Amino acid sequence: MEIACLDLEGVLVPEIWIAFAEKTGIEELKATTRDIPDYDVLMTQRLRILKEHNLGLNEIQEVIATLKPLEGAVEFVNWLRERFQVIILSDTFYEFSQPLMRQLGFPTLLCHKLEVDEAGNVINYHLRQKDPKRQSVLSLQGLYYRVIAAGDSYNDTTMLGEADAGILFHAPQNVIEEFPQFPSVQTFEDLKKEFLKASNRELSL
Ligand SMILES: [Mg+2]
Repeated sequence: MEIACLDLEGVLVPEIWIAFAEKTGIEELKATTRDIPDYDVLMTQRLRILKEHNLGLNEIQEVIATLKPLEGAVEFVNWLRERFQVIILSDTFYEFSQPLMRQLGFPTLLCHKLEVDEAGNVINYHLRQKDPKRQSVLSLQGLYYRVIAAGDSYNDTTMLGEADAGILFHAPQNVIEEFPQFPSVQTFEDLKKEFLKASNRELSL
């Protein structure tokens, strides 16, 4: 049995925090782990900024609902789900990704969780587990699934390495060069072909 694991941001949808910062015009929210390497410091800053701008979960989801999946992503997910069981492994939060997942037809998603108070303010966040993408692959293999995984960035590389086959998609040049063991493609048509190549079944486009 085979299962396909996909990263979400940068693969199927835009980087959610960055797109949200652009939509709202809140420059400070554009900071990522490249600017602030400590994730706890970064998230604490993000939650403070949301509060300062009076953005509760409803307002945040309204803005995110105006974002769209990447061109071709919906068709790709449908194609993949006809051929594999599909699980999205992401470092986003359920509450943040909800409006975009709706547009993708709500495929199964394993990610993190925000804590929201009764007034709708985001007051905290909870990471599901440490190294969650790799742990998910290991667990699926424990169920005797053969795992084919695709992702775009550093937070995907332990998942790609643990999978029976790993594919880089939309990866920046530095990631491609640092991880030459993974095939790297840039279009959904080529990604489909890599999934077919990685499969041990006779599948067709
Ligand atoms: Mg990504």
